Amino acid sequence: MKTRDRLRIAVQKSGRLSEPSQNLLAQCGLSFRQSRDKLFCFGENQPIDLLLVRDDDIPGLIDEGVCDLGFLGRNVLEEARLEQLAAKGASGLEEIRALGFGGCRLSIAVPQEEDYSDAAQLAGRRIATSYPQLLAKFLSGRGVAAGVVTLSGSVEIAPRLGTADLICDLVSSGATLVANQLKEAEVILRSEAVLACATTAFGDERDDILAMLMRRLDGVLAVRETRMLMLRTSRSAWPAVRDALPLGSLPTLTGIEGEAADIAVQAIVPRPVGWPELEAMSRAGARNLMVLPVERMLA
Ligand code: ATP
Ligand code: ZN
Repeated sequence: MKTRDRLRIAVQKSGRLSEPSQNLLAQCGLSFRQSRDKLFCFGENQPIDLLLVRDDDIPGLIDEGVCDLGFLGRNVLEEARLEQLAAKGASGLEEIRALGFGGCRLSIAVPQEEDYSDAAQLAGRRIATSYPQLLAKFLSGRGVAAGVVTLSGSVEIAPRLGTADLICDLVSSGATLVANQLKEAEVILRSEAVLACATTAFGDERDDILAMLMRRLDGVLAVRETRMLMLRTSRSAWPAVRDALPLGSLPTLTGIEGEAADIAVQAIVPRPVGWPELEAMSRAGARNLMVLPVERMLA
């Protein structure tokens, strides 16, 4: 493998993952200067550069060593990994972090009027997809023999064109399925944006740069879910309020000057707090409840 002293990350040029991926890198404190042709971003404050490409090209770029890392959907990564396994018996790519955005499902959809109960119903039918490897793996796992029709785009209209009976495609809200009189029947893969990397270590400066990036990324990902919860309660109600705190909360209690019977509580909570939880705490005797986002945290 060629040695390099800068890390190169492949990011989707334009699409659903471009902005959230670049925002995440900005949160990690990285800044870039974009080239005139807008295909390359030079890292100004760290030896980390970006290559802006089509998401489908990212697995190949990492595999060929053109890029060291990539931000892409797990759907694209897993399809490429299966393809490599089928072609060479091994895959040089791995998912090193799930990033919490770009969530979607790769699902088989059937006509709305069909009474769907299980995968045996797929036998003998033609399923259009851009993910032939993932679909074939699902079908063989269920012991179903069905036809896989590989299309590179516009999969959802294949049944109307008569090129397939069913589809296997990405779904998030399900609005596209409804618009095409289809409904979700089987979820094949739960996907989100991930950070992918080559399975082998670089053996040069890039190992240290990657370790630095991962430390910052883990800090950003951890804090993203963290909330600060503030409330007041009476000392007598505190045991009940404590039981109603979200699991994993770390509370700090403070006395209140001139109000001996009451306490103020601050708790670090490892995830967002919803209305039902706030209502449960209120029923247990908490008042003045407040949930705040956390911007940065250093243990
Ligand atoms: P490119 O020009 O880079 O090839 P694209 O059309 O393949 O773009 P997008 O539609 O931007 O890509 O989707 C990129 C990724 O976003 C998908 O691979 C998937 O991981 C994720 N995604 C999340 N929700 C959806 C959805 N409803 N439909 C399609 N992709 C989704
Ligand atoms: Zn694509």
